[in-house]
Parts: sequence; C-alpha cells; structure tokens
Amino acid sequence: MSDPKQNLAEVLEKIESAAKNSGRSAAEIDLVAVSKVHGADRIRPILEAGHRVFGENRVQEAQEKWPALRADYPDVILHLIGPLQTNKVRDAVALFDVIETVDREKLARKLAEEMKAQGRALPIYVQVNTGAEPQKAGVLPEEADAFIKLCRDGLGLNVVGLMAIPPADEEPSLHFMLLEKIAKRNGLAKLSMGMSGDYEVAVAFGATSVRVGTALFGARP
Ligand SMILES: *Cc1c(COP(=O)(O)O)cnc(C)c1O
Repeated sequence: MSDPKQNLAEVLEKIESAAKNSGRSAAEIDLVAVSKVHGADRIRPILEAGHRVFGENRVQEAQEKWPALRADYPDVILHLIGPLQTNKVRDAVALFDVIETVDREKLARKLAEEMKAQGRALPIYVQVNTGAEPQKAGVLPEEADAFIKLCRDGLGLNVVGLMAIPPADEEPSLHFMLLEKIAKRNGLAKLSMGMSGDYEVAVAFGATSVRVGTALFGARP
C-alpha cells in the first residue's frame, strides 16, 4: 500500500479488467489521482510514472502545491473535486483545468463570468447529490435537468458531464445508475463516479472518470 508507483500500476490494471469485463475499453476511462492532503514527495512518484491527471479538493491547498510540480510537468491536468466558494472562483479558474463541482446558480454565474474574463472555457461537471443528503453538495436529482440547461444554454458553460459522491452507507451502483440516467437524458457523455472503495463497480456502470485517492497514496494523514 505504501509505494504509490506500484499502487498506480495496480489501480490501472483493475480499471482495465473492470472495463474489459463490461465490454468497455480502458481508454474511455480517466483515472483522476486524488492527491489532497498528500505532499509533493508522495505525488512526484506518480508523475514520474507518467500519470498526469490529478484531483484536489481545496483551492488554496492546490495553489500551494501545484505551481512547483507543474513547472516540472507542464502537461498536468488538474481537476477541482471539492466544494467551490464563489470568492475562490477567480483562483480556481486560473489554476484548474476541469471543475467537477458546479452545483448552484450563483457559482455557475460566477464561473461563466470569470472564465470569460480569463479567456479560459474550462470543461465543467455538474455535481448531483444522488442520495439527497442534506450535508452533501450537489443539485438534487429532480433539479438536475433545469440546472444543466441553465449552465449550458443560459450561461454558455462547457458542461461535459455529471459527478456524484454516493452516500457512504448505501449500495453505490444504484447511485451510479441514477447519475447515468440523468446524464443520458441530458445528452452528457461524461460520468465522474467511483472512489477507492467502488471504482471498479463505477466502471461497470459507465464511469468515464474515477477519482481515486487512498488506493494510490495510502490512508490520508
Ligand atoms: C477524497 C475524495 C476522493 C477520493 O477518495 P478515496 O476514497 O480516498 O479514493 C474522491 N472524490 C472526492 C470528491 C473526494 O473528496
């Protein structure tokens, strides 16, 4: 568990076989290496192994870590996978390449404004709270269609897909199916779902992007 490089090879292998088992190609599935909390010393081995797609959940933490790593690996693709406050939108648009957590109108408007100002039309995901958990971010499933329409047609955002974090104590596949259904009826191709505990299941249910932290870097301190 402690060698990130070996963990990376194992996770990629598991994605490959999960894809194969459901008649998919692993080439359709991005591994987002979730490096939150981990320092550059843990992240560098994964970069050295050739991996380039990473996820962070806090803007400020990412700002502290990634400029130096990017100087050495300019082709890194950084996903924001945590809640975004509107006062951090400017920094987030400047730093990240993909924003996965768009879930309310005020944020969507601010993102549209800031992307225009910076000339950066970043791909975004709409986060859906598939379990309707009060403490969790994301639009409710029944509000998703209208919100996607607002983002895409009203604000001109480049909505590429949907993202969800299923409730910890429920069968994730039901949530993956729900997310897939909402994406399909809205003509969205990408599904960001699945974490260390369930990414193989997510692949079986159509994930195009899995967000894996612990299985790559070990337990977070
Ligand atoms: C931390 C985090 C992950 C990774 O979780 P692991 O269980 O460590 O793989 C995935 N997605 C989001 C949104 C996260 O915050």
